[in-house]
Amino acid sequence: MSEQFLIPTYARQPIAFERGEGVWLYDQAGERYMDAVSGVAVCNLGHAHPAVTRALSEQAARLVHTSNLYRIPAQEALAERLCRLAGMEKVFFGNSGAEANEAAIKLARLHAHRRGIEHPVVLVMENSFHGRTLATLSATGNRKVKEGFAPLVEGFRTLPYNDLAAVDAAADDANVVAVLAEPIQGEGGVRVPDDGFLAGLRERCDRHGWLLMLDEIQTGNGRTGGYFACLEQGVQPDVLTTAKGLGNGFPIGACLVAGAATELFGPGSHGSTFGGSPLGCATALAVVDTLEREVVPTVTAKGERLRAALRERLADLPMVREVRGRGLIIGIQLDRDAGEVVARARQAGLLINVTAGSVVRLLPPLVIDDQELDFLADTLSRVLVEFARDSERP
Ligand SMILES: *Cc1c(COP(=O)(O)O)cnc(C)c1O
Repeated sequence: MSEQFLIPTYARQPIAFERGEGVWLYDQAGERYMDAVSGVAVCNLGHAHPAVTRALSEQAARLVHTSNLYRIPAQEALAERLCRLAGMEKVFFGNSGAEANEAAIKLARLHAHRRGIEHPVVLVMENSFHGRTLATLSATGNRKVKEGFAPLVEGFRTLPYNDLAAVDAAADDANVVAVLAEPIQGEGGVRVPDDGFLAGLRERCDRHGWLLMLDEIQTGNGRTGGYFACLEQGVQPDVLTTAKGLGNGFPIGACLVAGAATELFGPGSHGSTFGGSPLGCATALAVVDTLEREVVPTVTAKGERLRAALRERLADLPMVREVRGRGLIIGIQLDRDAGEVVARARQAGLLINVTAGSVVRLLPPLVIDDQELDFLADTLSRVLVEFARDSERP
């Protein structure tokens, strides 16, 4: 095994997995690890879920790809299912989150030109993450993601997150045509905005004729306790993007539209060779069906149980500033760099992630059961107590 021929875009951990089942991953030596990352909010149904395996293998044996030159029944069925779930009208399918957001950004441009605005501006948020393509990294509110890639795509203006007054001040600019935001910022450190923030954005977008574009690539597909996070807040966007958990590991992304965003794309104005393939859509249909019927209704209670267990066990640790999140996207804010916690947890049989430097992020599969939740809380608390003892105060 050698990384010699890989472009080192990731600092990978020195471990490889051979097999997965539910919340567990098994390495090449047969050691078992609890996966509390889910491939970064992707395997929401856990590993090797029978309904997903069945859909994937049956469809693979029948028909993998035909292209969008022809009708694809599974694509039409998945689009209808997602629209009914989210209260949206139409869907475009791509293969990733970044592609879903690219579609959204192109829609904002079309919306602008329709209104006679030649140099449109999309309002985006500090600490946001929207992807690694040129347009989506230009929309991202994180310097490190943009570094070295100038000239960036123009037409984005960055505002502080969770700050409606800043949005009001930006409305003086007649070139603003849309707002792009995450309902909870995932990569940015599991930042949960105030309850009225999304509704406040909706209200401003209505008042000014802007598109409200919500990036639910990480928060969607049950992660926060509703199928989409915006629905829990009673907010209907004009554009909703999702990916990650939609295929449970099969690459698929979707850009859902409603209202003023519905009629902007037509034949020839956007496309994808692989997007919405029979294989991807048959798999995602099984994922959405299983999530909606069996799993999403359990997520809020599981999240509350896990946060309560963590708060109780970490109460005496001054290093822990806050345990926050909704459903099963949870951030533990430390007062110091948390990077070292990843290896310590792995050595204790637990896979976690650290984001924004000092935030331990938990994204366990949504199928996790109570006993497994307690194992997660116990193991992580033990690791954090030891880390607090061994590391220096900032
Ligand atoms: C992961 C992520 C993306 C990018 O998705 P890719 O599939 O990696 O292109 C965009 N937005 C958010 C909020 C994400 O979490």
